[in-house]
Amino acid sequence: MSERKMIDCHTHLMWYPDHISEQYAEEALASKLVKLKRSGGLAYSANLDKHVYDSTPESHLKASEGMSHVVVFGLQAKASGLDIPNEIIADYVAQHPGRMEGWASVDPTRPDCIEHLEYCVNTLKLKGLKLGPVYQHFDPQDRKHWPFFKRVEQLGLPTMWHQGTTFPSAAKLKWGLPLQLEDLAMDFPNMKMIVAHLGHPWETDLIVLIRKCPNMYADISAVHYRPWRYWQAMVTAMEYGVEHKILPGSDFPSGTMANIIAGLRNVNKVVEGTNLPKIPEEVQDMILYENWKAFFPQWA
Ligand SMILES: [Zn+2]
Repeated sequence: MSERKMIDCHTHLMWYPDHISEQYAEEALASKLVKLKRSGGLAYSANLDKHVYDSTPESHLKASEGMSHVVVFGLQAKASGLDIPNEIIADYVAQHPGRMEGWASVDPTRPDCIEHLEYCVNTLKLKGLKLGPVYQHFDPQDRKHWPFFKRVEQLGLPTMWHQGTTFPSAAKLKWGLPLQLEDLAMDFPNMKMIVAHLGHPWETDLIVLIRKCPNMYADISAVHYRPWRYWQAMVTAMEYGVEHKILPGSDFPSGTMANIIAGLRNVNKVVEGTNLPKIPEEVQDMILYENWKAFFPQWA
């Protein structure tokens, strides 16, 4: 059998204070402490400060060891205190051609969003697009954004959506529901979409959505922190027959692929010793090694 290649479809480059506001950094730290406390890892918290979500080129490279291909982007969302220039993504991926794939982040509320998208593609050579309506404060059902998405589709850009909850107080959760992507997915059938974090905590909505939208996939980043929700989501995904549309992603620096793999391998732990259904190892293997080939055939 040939060696099993792994990829990471979801990573960030950003660091405090250049790209992250004071308030965002403080709230990120508080959120990280809650996760550590719950997992019994509070001993490490002494070393944590507002740089907790720093992802520098050096740390990103180290975290990406063992991955054949890695998608990396920033996030343009001034409304939530995040402003990562697309240029740093282009510079970084130029140093790792072939292995690192840079995607743009463009805020659709910018009046010049289409021009900026074209600059990212034509000048910076970025190959996809990261979006987060909760961070960028836009309604993904509002038809005023359709010309932007028409251009995204014409340019053949795959998209990564943060459609789910998040911690910053500035976020607009009312625009974070997975079902709000239904019209976009149906009106732009050639725009490939990945919804991050299984759409948590609306995993069931996301699962029924990816079942009916051929162009929509999901990633398993940042869901292992909540083992009960994770197990339920995976059982639901299997019952609806969409386990082949779940992709491996870490959301680095929020997680690493090492965490993601351990989390998936432990997904049945929460129901150990019961008659409740289990996620078979073959399904776990598909998610880690096979499913990505349908979304990224160029790397298969
Ligand atoms: Zn992300």
